Amino acid sequence: MRISQCAATPQYVYLITKATLTSVNPLRLPPVSHLIATMIQQTSSKSKSHLQGAKLLRAQTWVFDLDNTLYSGVHGLFEQIDARMRGYLAQFLDVDEDEAHRVQKGYFRQYGTTLRGMMINHQMDPKPYLDHVHDIDISAIPPAPQLDAALARLDGRKVIFTNADLAHAERTLERLGIADHFDAVFDITQAAYVPKPEPQVYDTLIKRFAIEPTNAVMVEDIARNLEPAANLGMTTVWVRPITDCEVSKEAPTGDHVDFETDDLLAWLQAL
Ligand SMILES: [Mg+2]
Repeated sequence: MRISQCAATPQYVYLITKATLTSVNPLRLPPVSHLIATMIQQTSSKSKSHLQGAKLLRAQTWVFDLDNTLYSGVHGLFEQIDARMRGYLAQFLDVDEDEAHRVQKGYFRQYGTTLRGMMINHQMDPKPYLDHVHDIDISAIPPAPQLDAALARLDGRKVIFTNADLAHAERTLERLGIADHFDAVFDITQAAYVPKPEPQVYDTLIKRFAIEPTNAVMVEDIARNLEPAANLGMTTVWVRPITDCEVSKEAPTGDHVDFETDDLLAWLQAL
């Protein structure tokens, strides 16, 4: 049985700016509650949790992954993308689907995205690939009015940081009904096809949007993608996935996860 590739991080990243992000929101304290330390599940020590909880309250920038973070993996979008990746590779490399699957997963693990491995090793043109793998039916994911409300309550600017492409991100955000909350989508094309978790792409992100990492929070379903963010000083939130994605399911191996939750909506509502 094949293991899902975790469409969660389709092998590319698109980034686009809907508005200039030069004007950083002033320091604002979001509506807080004493529940913060108790309703969020943390992996850290008590002293660290208090410190990170305080950082949450003064966050100026929230950096969200998209796939399997802002919507659940149960809706099968990633499985659609995963299958289209495999089919594309089989045709491109002129191999059967089992071999394409092996290559797909191997590059995903080695390079962060299958696309990156294909570009480096096979000089594959990214654009047709990205168009093909994102040509999926997103009607399976339902609109998310509760998430819309939770994001509306969350102070600070919000940016999407995804290994998918812009068109996919915009379409998915519109489907969820939460697009208006985000100042920008940083996608794989703007990242020069360098995916998370390559540290250099995090540097690009914070420079492009003038993010002060110590006043930023990153929310993501693949734990390894949080490590570079934590190393920069961001507060990190791991949304534990419920898919078969082999990388998503990996428990953090370091000390780079400040908060973790099975339910992002409930977590946000508790802030
Ligand atoms: Mg994801």
